[in-house]
Amino acid sequence: MQTSPETCARAAGTGGYLVIDLAALVANYTQLSALTGQALTGAVVKADAYGLGAFQVSTALYGAGCRHFFVAQACEAFTLRPALPADAALYVLNGLPEGAEATCADQNIIPVLNSPHQIARWANLAKARGARLPAVVQFDTGMARLGLSPEEARGLAAAPERLTALDIHFIMSHLACADTPENTANAGQLAHMREISALFPGLPVSLANSGGLFLGDGFLQHLTRPGIALYGGAPNDAGPNPMQAVVGLHVAVIQTRTVPAGTRIGYGGAHTATQDMRLATLGAGYADGLPRSLSPRGAAWHGDIRLPIVGRISMDSLMVDITALPASAVTEGDFVELIGPHQSVDAIAADAGTISYEILTALGRRFYREYRGHT
Ligand SMILES: *Cc1c(COP(=O)(O)O)cnc(C)c1O
Repeated sequence: MQTSPETCARAAGTGGYLVIDLAALVANYTQLSALTGQALTGAVVKADAYGLGAFQVSTALYGAGCRHFFVAQACEAFTLRPALPADAALYVLNGLPEGAEATCADQNIIPVLNSPHQIARWANLAKARGARLPAVVQFDTGMARLGLSPEEARGLAAAPERLTALDIHFIMSHLACADTPENTANAGQLAHMREISALFPGLPVSLANSGGLFLGDGFLQHLTRPGIALYGGAPNDAGPNPMQAVVGLHVAVIQTRTVPAGTRIGYGGAHTATQDMRLATLGAGYADGLPRSLSPRGAAWHGDIRLPIVGRISMDSLMVDITALPASAVTEGDFVELIGPHQSVDAIAADAGTISYEILTALGRRFYREYRGHT
């Protein structure tokens, strides 16, 4: 019999455990691939695959047929590249760091070139080595974050020799408002990308992140780049989340107590008990990625019972109100749900005034982690 994550977490002395469901991850990838039709479906595994483990996530997605992986920083690529088979392409979204060109080339890492200067540096290395180097070129179509400006795009199109030393796999841009499908900025960025594409005929195009996949066929282009939807987060704000949950988080009860009305609870005495109440102290706090802003809106769950967070969240612990539970329903060593069937990652993010991305990427490294469903 397999040891339960509760037992493992207790034995490991952690304040909680994360269950990461790789079968659900793969199901999400398959669902998004079906949506993309002819287009290829990549996977964004930056920030340690949104906190879930870039190695485990990439290995599972490779098994599901994914061959295009995106990280943000070159350092992430240096770590992940040896774990990926040679036929997996690994792209660095944040560009080509000056001084890292040779390492990227040696390791078969493909930079997303975001400026004329980056194009020139990569092309110079290719010429020096006498071999074409693979690259992606990014254009800014309305986010003002990364990529060549419209003027730089026209300049590059007018001087195609600047790309001849390079093997351009595709050109790309990123959508600023894909999570709000009704936003007219989306159509504007697509139109802009089509103009740029006309300047570079024959090159495949990548535009859609998770939200972009749900904006209609025009946005799919040749290669999509979903991140959050793979990890079970809602791809947009339009209606029910179509993705399967991938992450569960349970946190340990490390002490319980009964306090009389008038008791001040937590740092700053920020909460005062208005009645006699029972409290449970949980063994995780903001250092584990449970933001202070969760207090006082957020909650944990025990079965179907909601346990409101009371008082400020500490670095390594927080308190919840367990008055609604039968006496001794929860005792030291039990676990309560923070992310799971009663509280999605989007729901806890909303209570904290943030987005699912920030909750996932902040999930603490102290939790015991169990990966399930990897075939
Ligand atoms: C993070 C990122 C993505 C993935 O976005 P999601 O909204 O998580 O799907 C895709 N493309 C770029 C350029 C990104 O920075």
